[in-house]
Amino acid sequence: MLLSWFDREQRKLPWRGARDPYHILVSEIMLQQTRVAVVEQRYASFVQQFPTAERLAAAREQTVLAAWSGLGYYRRARSLQAAAKKVGGNGGFPRTAEALRELPGVGRYTAAAVASIAFDEPAAAVDGNVKRVLTRLAGRVLGESEYWDAAQTLLDPKRPGDFNQAMMELGATVCLPGKPLCETCPVMALCVEQGAGVKRKQAPRNKSEMRYLLAVNDGKVLLRQRPKDNSLMPGMWELPECKAKRGPAAPLMKLKHSITNTDYTVLVFSPRESRLPAEAGKWATPAAAAKLALTGLARKILQRAEFLRC
Ligand code: SF4
Repeated sequence: MLLSWFDREQRKLPWRGARDPYHILVSEIMLQQTRVAVVEQRYASFVQQFPTAERLAAAREQTVLAAWSGLGYYRRARSLQAAAKKVGGNGGFPRTAEALRELPGVGRYTAAAVASIAFDEPAAAVDGNVKRVLTRLAGRVLGESEYWDAAQTLLDPKRPGDFNQAMMELGATVCLPGKPLCETCPVMALCVEQGAGVKRKQAPRNKSEMRYLLAVNDGKVLLRQRPKDNSLMPGMWELPECKAKRGPAAPLMKLKHSITNTDYTVLVFSPRESRLPAEAGKWATPAAAAKLALTGLARKILQRAEFLRC
């Protein structure tokens, strides 16, 4: 039921059908905390630039971070490169979920996803989407180990990789968090809730403001590098901060940006409204800026300002 629905209805995504464990690992790590639509834009160019674990392992960290720009949560890029180095050092890609968990940044879910899709290991993979489906099928919130047991019980051992992907696809496209589309659900007959919904509390979101300067001179933009020992996005490049709390004129642009559970209002000013900061920076052409490991927000601002194309 679920598999024939998946065969018929699955979305065409660039990583679908991949059997190379390294490519599957890249897509799974990218999808951990980034929306599918964004990963869709970045996955192909990343695996084109780093087609093998060996190539990723040999790349400079700044080059990897630049290729990861826009995906956010840069610790994942560093872990992925560390995993690629470990794969090389161990003389080959681990072929079981248990062995995959030894790689940096690879948890139970990612290990099971890679092992089942690349090597047909009958290991259930449980992510947030799968938990939602299982909660509704059971009609109650389960304990952590119950989710894994339930998924393992349902898993089709003949097509474990497809089954895991089908469960995730069902959660992402039919059994939606708000209003599930039960009338199109292939497992409706097995579902206790059928759309009634188990109410779960949403974590409260914080609101904050960030202010930056967009200084462009002679076709170059001023960028500064975040301290290398910063806990958040160390060594990444961004626009200089606008220290002045009040500007006489309106900002050049105002945009929204979310990081984890905080929604930021971002105000970007022309340097006319505030002196340029004294700390060292770098004037970069569009081509040079595009090659730097920019923060996602810096890239967004430079694209909005039409300084960068993509
Ligand atoms: S019937 Fe509705 S609530 Fe149940 S699994 Fe399908 S989409 Fe989700």
